[in-house]
Amino acid sequence: MISVNPASLEVIAKYQPLKKTEILNKINLTHDEFLSWKDVPIDKRKDVLIKISDELLGNVDYHASIITSEMGKPIRESRLEVEKCAWVCKYYAENAEFFLEREVIKTDASLSYLGYEPLGVVFGVMPWNFPYWQVFRFIAPSLMAGNVCLVKHASNVSGCALAIEELVKKACDNKNIFNVLLIDSSMVSSVIENNHIKAVTLTGSEHAGSSVAMTAGREIKKTLLELGGSDPFIVLSDADVDDSVKKGVISRFLNAGQSCIAAKRFIVDSIVYDEFIDKMLIEIKKLKLGDPMDESTSIGPLAKIEFVDEISELVDSSVTQGARLLYGGKRDGSYYSPTLLVDVKENMDVFKKETFGPVMCISKCEDEDHAIDLANNSV
Ligand code: NAP
Repeated sequence: MISVNPASLEVIAKYQPLKKTEILNKINLTHDEFLSWKDVPIDKRKDVLIKISDELLGNVDYHASIITSEMGKPIRESRLEVEKCAWVCKYYAENAEFFLEREVIKTDASLSYLGYEPLGVVFGVMPWNFPYWQVFRFIAPSLMAGNVCLVKHASNVSGCALAIEELVKKACDNKNIFNVLLIDSSMVSSVIENNHIKAVTLTGSEHAGSSVAMTAGREIKKTLLELGGSDPFIVLSDADVDDSVKKGVISRFLNAGQSCIAAKRFIVDSIVYDEFIDKMLIEIKKLKLGDPMDESTSIGPLAKIEFVDEISELVDSSVTQGARLLYGGKRDGSYYSPTLLVDVKENMDVFKKETFGPVMCISKCEDEDHAIDLANNSV
């Protein structure tokens, strides 16, 4: 497994995937830890999460630079990601006891209640786009609930995975509440099938999600999937155009557009269509593409060089289908320039597929009903 800096294309590190016996060993260690962790009082679990939060806050630059060097996110955004992870640990530390309280339910029995018992080892399969956040938002509530966690991270961010593992081990005497499995995705099914795995969660593409759900379904194990999205951003005739442009540019171009919850299809009423495009073009031209370690950069490279082919094909085919390219559309190594496509129609690839890159596509609508029809016409 190779970590490559997408900005320089230099190899950062090579990792040997775990052998079958090593995978089994890690699953067993994590399971054995569950047998103690589930009985650790919630106040002690809280202390661990607060310690993790403090560790993150005390070393924001260190962790942010691992994120940026492995997946190319501008360093300012990486720092915010690390701070958000510290926040989520603190949030669950402070609120989990309340969330886990038993809820008494009135029935004709002498006592009925809804209780929250830990399950055991929960297995997470995580993506590279928010390589710290995706892990922490999974482990913070799980650990507070008394579960223990195993993570298979995306193959290009093993350095992030190992840094998180080290941090958690430093903060907790129970050394195996969180372990990383450096494995290829072809090994995921066999991990899910292991008896000690009680639930699985995946954040990633539909393809990966359906594969994980298939195995978990066959094994009758609980699954939680967070998959892709093609969110509409609707601007109606009475909208504040300046404000919509300001919010739209952030929502589309954060993390070079590689976010599942980003605005992906801009649907703009014909009355404000030209004004929105003119003002958006001015804002997009201000975005600075460049070295993600540079404080002034707003868009870094895509996380892997092959993603440039995908986004480039999507833009080119949409232009062939009739979209107008107003700005960008240029590639250079792992970089793809911020791009504005207008007059996008429902049949075009850029409208139908999830655009995981710095490409804004704008479609015209006639009124609110038409906007909603377009918004709902998504795969
Ligand atoms: P991906 O290729 O699905 O990878 C996600 C994770 O799944 C990685 O750890 C990957 O491992 C693993 N994986 C890939 N194929 C698998 C398979 N057949 N069986 C089991 N595991 C498999 O997705 P991505 O390119 O990293 O991320 C982009 C997608 O994730 C987008 O669609 C995006 O919208 C979605 N996403 C959703 C959320 C959300 O919260 N809903 C958040 C972030 C991203 P390898 O790296 O080893 O292939």
